Amino acid sequence: MPPVAETPIESTLKELIRSEGPITISRFMQLALYHPDHGYYMQVNPFGEEGDFITAPEVSQMFGEVLGLWVADLWMRAGAPERLRLVELGAGNGTLMADILRATAHVPGLHTALEVILIEISPRLRERQRQMLAPYVVKLDWKHNIGQIDEGPFTFVIGNEFLDALPIHQCVRTEGGWVEKGVGLDDAGNLAFVVTNQPLPVSPGRWMQNDSPGALRELCPGAADTMKQVGRLLSGQGGACLFIDYGYADAPSNPGTLQALKSHQYHPVLEEVGTADLTAHVDFLALKEVALAAKLIPLPLATQGNFLTRLGIQTRLKTLLARATPAQKKMLEAQLDRLILPAEMGTLFKVFCATSANVPVPLGFYEN
Ligand code: SAH
Repeated sequence: MPPVAETPIESTLKELIRSEGPITISRFMQLALYHPDHGYYMQVNPFGEEGDFITAPEVSQMFGEVLGLWVADLWMRAGAPERLRLVELGAGNGTLMADILRATAHVPGLHTALEVILIEISPRLRERQRQMLAPYVVKLDWKHNIGQIDEGPFTFVIGNEFLDALPIHQCVRTEGGWVEKGVGLDDAGNLAFVVTNQPLPVSPGRWMQNDSPGALRELCPGAADTMKQVGRLLSGQGGACLFIDYGYADAPSNPGTLQALKSHQYHPVLEEVGTADLTAHVDFLALKEVALAAKLIPLPLATQGNFLTRLGIQTRLKTLLARATPAQKKMLEAQLDRLILPAEMGTLFKVFCATSANVPVPLGFYEN
């Protein structure tokens, strides 16, 4: 086989490592995903059957429709505040927001109260979102990051598969304390994982104190900052956040959860860098700690399957089936299975919710 040509990102990374030594996993992810010219999110269209991965809103309209119900229900039970700000982090093709807006269009007063803000880093995806949401008559705005949003009205923050895209640090516990993992070069000059002798970039969480030597942890400062920002936005009039992602609430096993996906297949992380999506599972325990510190009330973590079932996704399916052709029926049933079955997305994906103190318990989070 002829050698695979080096991607532009790989050349950049190798040059950087040759001059500065091994780089952190976080810096590696940052460049691979967000490099202004060659980063994965800057160039390709990642979603859908032809992309590299498919997300729940792209699997089925039912996902966004029941999330619309969640939004409407909580807004109403919170007393239908005059202004409702709905922030979506990493809105992809805009499909989730379009489904939420369609599902809530007939809720009296909701769209009049509504201001939508989309946080999106990719100019291409911003444009797609603009097109997708053009039919809906609501206030719409875009920002680059959540830190640019002012404190203000009652707010919901939603993110589906957003946190998993944020760069992580990987660290390993040794007898002498925590050290960081990184990316360096092997003898042949290829990218390779290494353990650096660098200390941790942030202080270890209190839940890491009893970890034994050999244990691995993943720290995501971006996720922690996001949750702090949510705390700031909810500190005024209150509100809630909802993060749906794959992740864990205990500890990841060594060698960690960093993974690459290309054309719906797992792909070696250090090969063809910049052409595959890179993600890490979300540490929901760490997220909960930040939510608590921000004076929010975290709800018990739900699986996606339980959450969607409690929101009545089966009832939504029945309504859609009643006016579907036999072929559409088959498709809708398969979509629901994909979203909720344990062997599909139902268990791997978790739903994390935290609210301000003035908000009732949201739908989907009653304990079993
Ligand atoms: N929520 C969508 C897309 C998930 S993919 C869905 O469920 O289909 C991740 C999304 O987050 C993409 O839109 C990507 O461009 C965006 N994104 C990733 N990192 C980001 C960052 N740091 N800031 C803002 N947007 C980001």
